[in-house]
Amino acid sequence: MIEVAEADHIIAVALPTYPPESRPLTSAYGAILRQAIHADRPQPPFDRATMDGIAINCSEWEKDRRAFSIAGVQRAGESAKRLDDARKCFEVMTGAVMPQGADCVVKVEDIEVADGVAVIQDGLSLASGNFIHKVGTDAKVGDVVLEPGVRLTPPRIAIAAAFGAHEISVAKPPSVAIISTGDELVEAHETPELHQIRLSNVYAIEAGLRMRGFTDVERHHLPDDRDRIQSAIAELLERVDMLLLTGGVSMGKFDYVPETLRALDVEQRFHKVAQRPGKPLWFGIAPGGKPVFGLPGNPVSAIVCFRRYVLHHVERAMGLSPNPNLASLAEPVTFAPNMTYFMPVSLTFDESGRQIAKPLRTNTSGDFGTLGHSDAIIELSRDISEFEAGYVAPVYRWA
Ligand code: AMP
Ligand code: MG
Repeated sequence: MIEVAEADHIIAVALPTYPPESRPLTSAYGAILRQAIHADRPQPPFDRATMDGIAINCSEWEKDRRAFSIAGVQRAGESAKRLDDARKCFEVMTGAVMPQGADCVVKVEDIEVADGVAVIQDGLSLASGNFIHKVGTDAKVGDVVLEPGVRLTPPRIAIAAAFGAHEISVAKPPSVAIISTGDELVEAHETPELHQIRLSNVYAIEAGLRMRGFTDVERHHLPDDRDRIQSAIAELLERVDMLLLTGGVSMGKFDYVPETLRALDVEQRFHKVAQRPGKPLWFGIAPGGKPVFGLPGNPVSAIVCFRRYVLHHVERAMGLSPNPNLASLAEPVTFAPNMTYFMPVSLTFDESGRQIAKPLRTNTSGDFGTLGHSDAIIELSRDISEFEAGYVAPVYRWA
């Protein structure tokens, strides 16, 4: 049995580096960016009016001029016009380039227009630069506006679009087969006999993958039959990039997974981690370098191990930058067994913005009803058995 940190290290070094692919911006949402995006032009690209109103030369206002005759209109999308008489103004629209010779926008609410003359209200304090977003103040040409390793959220898609990155390099998720084993299990749409239960893990795992943008995901269910398990795994190892098995990895008489994997020359890197839930976790590498995770069958263990190990490490191998998410315990927790404890928690924020984890205790490792109230699991160190309120630890969110 190994420690969580050792399991992390073994998985991290064993996983391949998944190659990127090029995708149109319109289908890159949620993906992990694999290139830097640079500014191809300044942001904003020109001195831009940020209000509807008039564009004036502020020095005339400073000389107490309040009435400016209107020389014309500067609309958004027109190239810059020229104000050649400082006693005049241009009507200007939000998003328009500032007319040459003007350096200040007065909002439409602060003027009155009559007979082609705009009169500025008294009592304003105007200055050169008013309501102008100056060229290059957000980014200069060549600046890195997005770093590789970030997930493409809607704001980041906007940034990529603004700088013309319409075809971008993102992580290509590996193809995954999820295999469950167990004679007692039936599909979700079936009516179980009294001695049967419905599959649940595999649906959770598939959902977890698809939510993160994995599209090449297949699900298979096998009875506890050594030969069928072996031939199915052999066939899938030829075809997919990664195998996730659930069930059959414990010490039961019909837990054929570890011996089947041995027979197929899948090299075991570890079996069993000092953690609860999820102690029976198995990990190995198939010939050709394909990772195989043997997740426990128990539903809570399977979901926790999938989130904590599979998603965590595979997304890093896909280039996601580490971004630890920490939370403070809302109340004390005692956990005596000498193991890392992954406890379901709900997450909130306190008045100072600290993330707070409220423990949701499960009564057994099979109690996944409690997980329905949880936002995440918190990882409580093996070295401590009495955790005080306020103890800070990593959390792994479901979504
Ligand atoms: P095993 O690891 O095969 O001994 O399974 C441990 C427990 O998890 C048993 O109660 C199984 O019925 C249950 N189990 C195994 N696989 C699944 C699954 N895919 N969905 C829900 N429960 C499962
Ligand atoms: Mg089983």
